[in-house]
Amino acid sequence: MEAQMQKQGFDVIVVGAGAAGLMAAGTAAQQGRRVLLLEKMEKSGRKVRITGKGRCNVTNARPAEEFASQVRTNAAFFAPAFAGFDNRATMRFFERRGVKLEVERGDRVFPKSGKAWDIANALLDYCVDNGVEIRYDTRVTEILTLSGRVFGVKYINKRGFERKEECPAVILATGGVSYPATGSTGDGYAFAADLGHTIEPLRPSLTPLVTSHPQARYLDRLLLRNIRATLYIDNAPVREEFGELGFSERGIEGAVALRMSRDAVDALIDGHRVKLVVDLKPALSEEVLRERIARERAELAPTEFFGELLRKLVPQPLVHPLARELDIHSKDYVSKITDAQVTRLIRTLKGLTFPITDYAPFEYAVTTAGGVRCEEVNPRTLESLKVPGLYLAGEVLDLDANTGGYNLQIAFSTGRLAGQLKKETR
Ligand SMILES: Cc1cc2nc3c(=O)[nH]c(=O)nc-3n(C[C@H](O)[C@H](O)[C@H](O)COP(=O)(O)OP(=O)(O)OC[C@H]3O[C@@H](n4cnc5c(N)ncnc54)[C@H](O)[C@@H]3O)c2cc1C
Repeated sequence: MEAQMQKQGFDVIVVGAGAAGLMAAGTAAQQGRRVLLLEKMEKSGRKVRITGKGRCNVTNARPAEEFASQVRTNAAFFAPAFAGFDNRATMRFFERRGVKLEVERGDRVFPKSGKAWDIANALLDYCVDNGVEIRYDTRVTEILTLSGRVFGVKYINKRGFERKEECPAVILATGGVSYPATGSTGDGYAFAADLGHTIEPLRPSLTPLVTSHPQARYLDRLLLRNIRATLYIDNAPVREEFGELGFSERGIEGAVALRMSRDAVDALIDGHRVKLVVDLKPALSEEVLRERIARERAELAPTEFFGELLRKLVPQPLVHPLARELDIHSKDYVSKITDAQVTRLIRTLKGLTFPITDYAPFEYAVTTAGGVRCEEVNPRTLESLKVPGLYLAGEVLDLDANTGGYNLQIAFSTGRLAGQLKKETR
């Protein structure tokens, strides 16, 4: 009899075994639901396994109000999910599952082991321990409905055959479109759109910014620490950030540029002029910097080159590009530098300007901005307001946040809430 009951099928199918899907599937199973988790890749949590440069910044330990201010879109919609399973709950969840955590600079939380795999494996164990049936290499191709309600999914199985599985509830946790090699190729947006949902325009977020600055190509791999950067849109300052800025063949990156990218990308799409102005010496006023330069100059012999002076002020890879920017030869004698040139040097150190002309594509973006319109989803249950039985969790929703562990927390909080399969009569 029991075996026959088992055969009757599943209470819920979760599509996507990423951060949100694993949390949702484990939660539903822990509450006694029969859960099928379908994942198109050969293993679970491929994106989670590369997060935080392989270390996984799993959440952020800031107080709730500060946390909310880091959610860039639909923070109010996210609030009930966060209230039900917040950053403290996430930390408890992983610690109880044997993953020791530590809090680093900026309240960012990482596994003590320094291994993102520990987070991904803890999520997988949570599902396995609670009896979730997981099928890998299984790509869902359609969410099936009957009389406007969810009644199952169609999928292509491991062997390449199309199959159907009936079920009264489906949790869509297919992620965004960034880093598509991890499996997040935006399938969920197409499913949701087919079911009548509106998809807010998709844009790369937390993505490197491309500059037309003529010296940028000489800055490859340069990492600037403790700088202050200001983002200007049409010459008006819109955002200021302090921290690290890096340069690579993809563009300007590092936490500061990634955080700026959310506004910069939207402005570029809308045809505005964008620039990033970098203060290389934020702790020094122009006057103090002038005194410092005078001191450094006095210590150099008159026959030393201008490049030597720059070397005392900025990291080596910046010396020649900065000299070119100032139009002073780095082999000019330091004694020949005029007061006007010193003033220009100070202005440049306090405001090195990078025109931003483009941004790196989804392949290099940490998250996707845009997604399923939140007004069409009940924030207290995460059930679709258009299709009963359809729940949504994670990046497929129009939710995104800054770097610092906030995006995974969005996945965990929404996965937790969706996995509870709450019903609310309106
Ligand atoms: C390089 C990188 C580093 C990051 N580092 C951090 C960090 O340190 N901290 C942080 O907070 N955030 C970080 N993020 C962001 C974070 O990883 C994502 O926000 C989070 O993984 C989103 O979770 P998700 O479950 O919604 O989607 P995903 O984790 O992308 O999972 C979606 C899953 O759905 C599967 N899927 C898709 N379509 C189908 C289909 N048709 N059928 C079956 N399965 C399907 C995919 O294969 C995938 O496994 C990083 C992102 C990247 C790219």
